[in-house]
Amino acid sequence: MNNFTFYSPTEFVFGKDTEKNVGELCQQYGASRIMIVYGGGSVVRSGLLDRIKKSLDEAKLVYCELSGVQPNPVDTKVYEGLELAREFKPDFMLPVGGGSVIDTAKTIAAGFYYEGDFWDFYCGKAKPVNALPIGVVLTIPAAGSEGSGNAVITNTKTHVKNGLRMPKLLRPKFAIMNPELTMTLPAWQTASGITDMMAHILERYLSNTPDVQIGDRLAEGMLLAIMEEAEKVMRNPQDYEARANIMWSGTIAHNDTCSLGRQEDWNSHAMEHEISAEYNVTHGAGLAVIFPAFLTYASKHNPAKVAQLAYRVLGVTESGDIAADALEGAKRLKAWLHDILGMPVSFAQLGVDNPDLELLNTRLHRLKGDVMQGYMPLDAEATMEIYKLCL
Ligand code: NAP
Ligand code: FE
Repeated sequence: MNNFTFYSPTEFVFGKDTEKNVGELCQQYGASRIMIVYGGGSVVRSGLLDRIKKSLDEAKLVYCELSGVQPNPVDTKVYEGLELAREFKPDFMLPVGGGSVIDTAKTIAAGFYYEGDFWDFYCGKAKPVNALPIGVVLTIPAAGSEGSGNAVITNTKTHVKNGLRMPKLLRPKFAIMNPELTMTLPAWQTASGITDMMAHILERYLSNTPDVQIGDRLAEGMLLAIMEEAEKVMRNPQDYEARANIMWSGTIAHNDTCSLGRQEDWNSHAMEHEISAEYNVTHGAGLAVIFPAFLTYASKHNPAKVAQLAYRVLGVTESGDIAADALEGAKRLKAWLHDILGMPVSFAQLGVDNPDLELLNTRLHRLKGDVMQGYMPLDAEATMEIYKLCL
């Protein structure tokens, strides 16, 4: 096991009606002027926003609102938010929604203290040194941003979708997680979120660090539980216990619990970001296309962990041919994503009939370098092979 530090200061407040505590929690974390951030309207339609405001009013807190964050959040909304923040001068950010809303709020939180263009953080020109504190009300289990120090934003001019990782600065102070709030999710979003959290676990699992038993067994247990609970949720979206299990899984999948002391591999996410940046597809759905292709390629070039996944999670029996077993695992995962979650597993099913693979691949390596290191080194030829496997 490699050396590591783990810093996870978020207070998770989980369960029915927990959003009613939001005013009190904001107060506890020193908030007096709050900037609420939300998306395209699901929180208005569900009445959640009204309940949040009521709680803030009762706690005598002042607030402003930034609405209209879109999935695959963009720089222009961050600029709009920064302008509002400079006028209103919040001392606390309160995103109410999913990864897109949370990541926009995190970026405003860091950009607020920065004189230059916030995009400097995303292109490696500068590192944030200060940020407004953040509290989250989560409405979709998927990105895990409620427990991570990460944010992902797309640049609308260059179509670059990139992440920022600041585990100390950007981890939320609290995250309110009421599984009942997720019952209004369309099946597509539920399934995309489940795919995303599974990818977050797999990207930690695909590691060459030897003997990280605790990480491996946690990851395998999580994947087995998610697959079981996902079937229940897809059958009955009102199943509270299944919703609760899925919601908490999304957090653990991405708060680093499964990856401590080991090498990780985020190349599938990087490959998907190129797809969602160019074609604006749902992130989790893009991963459902990329991940089986990535595992198929890995079965040929570094089958060990894929085979272990196949035996321990996907029910494959050892045949003596590790590459064949790994490939069978990749096939089973692909079938599961398609048959149980209803996810697309090819570009065409994703609604992208003629993907410009050259463009995706060129942008990918411009951002990530000639050879992307990880579970297996990927040069432009290798990533092109993976993109082609998605056709
Ligand atoms: P999202 O993009 O925040 O939301 C997806 C959709 O779900 C929106 O249309 C939203 O509608 C709707 N929605 C959310 N909650 C709902 C509810 N309870 N009922 C009905 N509809 C609801 O979803 P996400 O998957 O959490 O975030 C995706 C983004 O996060 C991507 O950009 C991805 O790249 C990024 N990401 C970030 C990290 C990280 O660590 N920061 C990790 C992985 C991925 P409204 O807009 O109307 O609310
Ligand atoms: Fe993700």
